[in-house]
Amino acid sequence: MGRYKADVVIVGGGIAGIVVAIDLLSLGQRVLIVDRDSEANFGGLAKESFGGIWLVDTPQQRRSGIKDSPELALQNWLSFGDFEADGGVDDHPRRWAEAYVADCARDVYRFLKGHGIGFLPMPLWVERGLYGNGNAVPRWHVVWGTGHRLAARMIEVLRGHPDAGKLELLFNHRVERLEVAAGLVNGVSGTTEVDRAAFTVEAESTIIASGGINGDIARVKANWHPDWGRPPQTILNGSHQFADGLMHDAAAACGGQLTHLDRMWNYAAGVHHWRPRKPDHGLSLVPSRSALWLNWRGERFGPMPLVGGFDTRDLVGRICAEERGYSWQILNRKIALKELAISGAEFNPNVRERNLRGFVADTLFGNRWLYDQVTKNCADVVVSETLPELVARMNVLQGDNAVNEAKVRASVASYDSEIDRGPALYNDEQLRRLAHLRRWKGDRLRIANFQKIIEPGTGPLMAIRLFIVSRKSLGGIRSDLSARVVDDTGAPIAGLYAIGEAAGFGGGGMNGLRALEGTFLGGCIYSARRAARAIGR
Ligand SMILES: Cc1cc2nc3c(=O)[nH]c(=O)nc-3n(C[C@H](O)[C@H](O)[C@H](O)COP(=O)(O)OP(=O)(O)OC[C@H]3O[C@@H](n4cnc5c(N)ncnc54)[C@H](O)[C@@H]3O)c2cc1C
Repeated sequence: MGRYKADVVIVGGGIAGIVVAIDLLSLGQRVLIVDRDSEANFGGLAKESFGGIWLVDTPQQRRSGIKDSPELALQNWLSFGDFEADGGVDDHPRRWAEAYVADCARDVYRFLKGHGIGFLPMPLWVERGLYGNGNAVPRWHVVWGTGHRLAARMIEVLRGHPDAGKLELLFNHRVERLEVAAGLVNGVSGTTEVDRAAFTVEAESTIIASGGINGDIARVKANWHPDWGRPPQTILNGSHQFADGLMHDAAAACGGQLTHLDRMWNYAAGVHHWRPRKPDHGLSLVPSRSALWLNWRGERFGPMPLVGGFDTRDLVGRICAEERGYSWQILNRKIALKELAISGAEFNPNVRERNLRGFVADTLFGNRWLYDQVTKNCADVVVSETLPELVARMNVLQGDNAVNEAKVRASVASYDSEIDRGPALYNDEQLRRLAHLRRWKGDRLRIANFQKIIEPGTGPLMAIRLFIVSRKSLGGIRSDLSARVVDDTGAPIAGLYAIGEAAGFGGGGMNGLRALEGTFLGGCIYSARRAARAIGR
């Protein structure tokens, strides 16, 4: 039996676990991080992420001419998250939301800048809200180097900490239980992944930083939100393979309250990874805005068409309301070169490697590398020079004749003829939204200029089959503003803390029903810092 001792044991070496460890070392604590993954994956999901962080009133915003304020930001947060749906009484998540908005400039932005993290000069404008109830201004600040750089730099800071002698790291160790004595959580126990040898850790404080539940698709389906009807048959896994809720259950076994597990930030445009690292590994495409979005039969979604960038939750709900819970996008090579993008560090090498020249070239001239990767390797993509052949290939891919060629042809013809009539007469809702999206310079560079689907010289045509991809848990282990896990009465459980995605990014669900994007990495860093401060006190 392996026996370990520390002042604080942290379960999970993702961004939340790493940041809390840095702050705890600075407070003189002896820290042990236990992670069931291998050392190569130290950093968790942050390492795979794109690194977009939701921040308010930053120099990047001001330099881009954006007037923002914590008041406006909080108003957007509460309305997009639909906090009133709980009658406004769900106290902990709301207080975490208020605190994050008020403190993120200091505790996230300045903290990261202080550790040498830079951002792209112009924030992007995501989650604007279907009817304008989302981000009123651009707030998504992308780390120059993606989440990979963010995680790598934080690991560097941790390992290079002046008090790194007080840090111990255990990889391939799975925590299964919290240890309790005299009403106090005083450590954890579990087994190693390699040979199932038992181990225990004794500590005054225990921090759960083990991520969400969205890596367990059975659990995702079991907690499917009623607004989304039945869960689709296929849900791809875009989360961590160990985000299975084991530590949520351990917290609940000690009386910790789990809340809002049915609130998730899943994405509508998932495709199968062609080099999967886990079962049903999904990639989340940033849905092309100029593509036509069709249901499983090949009918265009309507009367309100599906367009990305406004309300991700609505996209998922609209697709799940169909008899079959997957969809198609139809576009052409010209649109794909401009708009095709995959969320995360892996398929954005120029941003990840901080290659400015490559990044600018991709943005201005189109990302040929990504187009080739996707069209050559992705099992959910078909291309063809003609529409009838494209539809035939879609049907071969799906294995039945579900896609109706006449319906696809009619949708494409109607959309293209509207573009032919000229901008002054655009009356299609997708075109109206494209005009709005293109007005923000950060987005204009990445959106085609009212491009028809069928036009000589723009081919071949491309169809992408899109599945729902599971990603983030908005709910989780409920915590108070000191990140202490609370029970059903709201009383803290002595010695136990939860941070990051495990805690629904703070309070057991600080985003509410919807997230303004980038509040995940931001929430991990912020909740980690609050926990360290509380323990240090
Ligand atoms: C492709 C991709 C792109 C993303 N892009 C963005 C973005 O641009 N902006 C944004 O805000 N968010 C983004 N996210 C989400 C964000 O990366 C995560 O929400 C965040 O990194 C979660 O961090 P965490 O530390 O809470 O948990 P995790 O990163 O999940 O880390 C948890 C750790 O705990 C370990 N663990 C789990 N259970 C146990 C156990 N029982 N015992 C021991 N160890 C355990 C795991 O091995 C893991 O290392 C993205 C995610 C992905 C996958």
